[in-house]
Amino acid sequence: MSKDVFKGIADPVRRQIIALLARSPLNINQVHEYFPDISRQAISKHLGVLESCEILKIYKAGRERYGYLHKPAFVALHTWLQPFIQLEEHSLHNDYEVFLKNTDYAPGMPFSHPVMLQAMLSKDANFDGSFYIAVKTTGIFCKPSCSARPKPENVLFYDTKEEAIKNGFRACKICKP
Ligand SMILES: [Zn+2]
Repeated sequence: MSKDVFKGIADPVRRQIIALLARSPLNINQVHEYFPDISRQAISKHLGVLESCEILKIYKAGRERYGYLHKPAFVALHTWLQPFIQLEEHSLHNDYEVFLKNTDYAPGMPFSHPVMLQAMLSKDANFDGSFYIAVKTTGIFCKPSCSARPKPENVLFYDTKEEAIKNGFRACKICKP
């Protein structure tokens, strides 16, 4: 895949230009008409970036140069995204903000370590009550949605409060697990 295809779509003006070109090939003056607040030079630069990352190709008609969208760039973007879409499609609990693969979690099974870490980092309250996060450096345990931000390498996970307490951790005063 073109190595700079993500650079091409990284800028909001370039994404707008791509949306325009999806309707019709345009030359630079036609593109510029849609952006009265942006200089022609800046538009030219954006078009140059899109061309260099092969999101657009140039069609020459007489002295005019028209930019048109180059399909392989979009196929490359789609190919890159597809595994994440599949992950979402295959996740069982779409209420959660994190990806849950079948292999990571099935109803009745404990959550896997990566899933709990993702849940902690996203502070998803849907996980509250499912497990508890104990922080080795502070001796405190929390709900997944707690506003505290422990480092991933300092945390342990417990299925129940009782387990966390038995292992010497105290309940957090902020989230009151
Ligand atoms: Zn807490």
